[in-house]
Amino acid sequence: MRKKIVAGNWKMNNDLIESQSLITEVRGIIRDELRLDNVDVILFPTYFALPSCIRLLEGTGVYSGAQNCHQEKSGAFTGEVSASMVKALGASHVIIGHSERRQYFGENNIICNAKIKAGLEQELTILYCIGETLEERESNTHLDILKSQLIEGLNEINAQQLNNLVIAYEPVWAIGTGKTASAQQAQEIHAFLRKEITTKYGEAVAQRLRILYGGSVKPDNAKELFSQVDIDGGLIGGASLKARDFAEIVRAAQ
Ligand code: PEP
Repeated sequence: MRKKIVAGNWKMNNDLIESQSLITEVRGIIRDELRLDNVDVILFPTYFALPSCIRLLEGTGVYSGAQNCHQEKSGAFTGEVSASMVKALGASHVIIGHSERRQYFGENNIICNAKIKAGLEQELTILYCIGETLEERESNTHLDILKSQLIEGLNEINAQQLNNLVIAYEPVWAIGTGKTASAQQAQEIHAFLRKEITTKYGEAVAQRLRILYGGSVKPDNAKELFSQVDIDGGLIGGASLKARDFAEIVRAAQ
């Protein structure tokens, strides 16, 4: 039985005051209304709100993470933040390979692989995002694309390390568009990904690995998505910016 995960990716939204107030609101709802014994909840605010997030969530059981990290430990990389810096703050998770990083910042599977290794070295838990574009789906190349994102991204990552890694399947055409993959479409892909993991790492590892769905998950579609056998929760963008919606999605995972 895999424990579900609901993670909120705030992207480049909310200044410090807004972040603190949203974290406080989410914290209140979780404390008063939800249980965390069967779902892991993680918030991914911007880097500068991360210290506040960690402090405000202390003792609540809710995790805090960074939306990205650089693969090098330190050096002349203006504007970047390393995995060791994220770890030193006290964060537990980091997102790697989000489609917006791939699309706007040129991150490919090789870069993602280096970042995954850097994050694992710092004992951060990785949320590794993969997903096909609309063109790739329409030209029926999506399974090949997903397979290469998976295999190249996980190059030289062993079964033991996979205990600290979660896959997030996020079809690019469903992110921030309001178009969700149907529960059946998503399940098909999750089953495909688990099969690929079985081939590379064996059945036991594949059955342990958590695979999240992301792409326009909302309170009204979360339950159906999360009830699919291979869907272990969600990575939530837009709906994670509203405390009540996010809480309802957490509830749907319980
Ligand atoms: C995301 O950015 O990871 C995401 C899934 O966004 P949205 O929920 O807004 O589609």
